[in-house]
Amino acid sequence: MKIPFLSLKDVTALHGVEINEAVSRVVNNGWYLQGQENEQFEEHYSKYIGCKYTIGCANGLDALIWIFRAYIEMGVMQPGDEIIVPANTYIATILAITENNLIPVLVEPKVSTLEIDDSLIEARITPKTKAIAIVHLYGRMAISPKILELCKMHHLKLVEDNAQAHGCIYAPTGQRTGSIGDAAGHSFYPGKNLGALGDGGAVTTNDPDLAVAVRALANYGSQEKYVFKYTGRNSRLDEVQAAILDVKLKYLEKDNQHRKAVAAYYIEHLDNMNVTLPDTLPMEQNAFHLFPILVGEGKRDALHDYLERNGVGTVIHYPIPPHKQECYVKEVWNNPQLSLPITEKIANEELSLPIGPSISLEEVAEVVRLINDFV
Ligand SMILES: *Cc1c(COP(=O)(O)O)cnc(C)c1O
Repeated sequence: MKIPFLSLKDVTALHGVEINEAVSRVVNNGWYLQGQENEQFEEHYSKYIGCKYTIGCANGLDALIWIFRAYIEMGVMQPGDEIIVPANTYIATILAITENNLIPVLVEPKVSTLEIDDSLIEARITPKTKAIAIVHLYGRMAISPKILELCKMHHLKLVEDNAQAHGCIYAPTGQRTGSIGDAAGHSFYPGKNLGALGDGGAVTTNDPDLAVAVRALANYGSQEKYVFKYTGRNSRLDEVQAAILDVKLKYLEKDNQHRKAVAAYYIEHLDNMNVTLPDTLPMEQNAFHLFPILVGEGKRDALHDYLERNGVGTVIHYPIPPHKQECYVKEVWNNPQLSLPITEKIANEELSLPIGPSISLEEVAEVVRLINDFV
């Protein structure tokens, strides 16, 4: 039995007929950028997320870059200001900060949740701190009442990186991620819970000024044709991708329900003394983009290789944390003692098991059987 980590071909095939119809419609109508497919998708996505504005853009990294850039253009932030960000994240969150000449202040995660440790945030707030960039990594809710309180008390913007958590709900208020903070960046990279067939991203917000600035920045800095307010870039979502996303959005809840069934099976049946699962969240607080496990005592790579030999694909998220990457290794960001043992432990022990809308529960049972037999 071959069980890939994620078969995008199978994921697309789930809604293949409708996706093909949508693509043909756009191909044949002859309008490929900034048209009614974007308008429709943005309207539907705002409704789904529960926010006033959605601005489609080229990818998730750009979405995050535009949020910080817009805050700079609006005078809310200036280069050199500090942004609190989890050390355990995909590098895009941090690139969006450094791209704008803002300073990332890396905060360790809790090993039990893999998300930012909210008890460590307050000590890192300085007069230069302007925002907390929260990341719902692996699809797990990363916002806590304490984080919301800190933002209020210290007048910080809350920027959500919602690249991995489309559909995740904050239980205390019933709000979806992407509508809880002041602004959110979303990625529609093909493997994400809501994935395009190519690159795509969006900013969501309730702030009309931010929405207008982001829309301009992602369109050459222009609000009016051939009039340029900012030095922007070309960072738009194309009509074909918007049409595909609008089809897939209709099935996101159903697809996420399947992810939850897969996760529930893993949680109930995984039983190996080398394997630790992160704390189980209330089901609505986890969109299960990934199913991360920690494998202790240096056995992570052995488990990866053993599963590979037995036909099961797994992926490490992520093998090298951002602060250890060549591009950042010399940066100390006002913190020469930068030491992040928990982030490094996660990088050494994390392994993501197959999960997605198309994997069958028989396949999941086979993955569990193999892991439980692993010594
Ligand atoms: C995928 C991802 C991004 C970037 O999205 P792209 O569309 O690939 O640019 C940002 N942050 C996180 C946490 C991601 O997983």
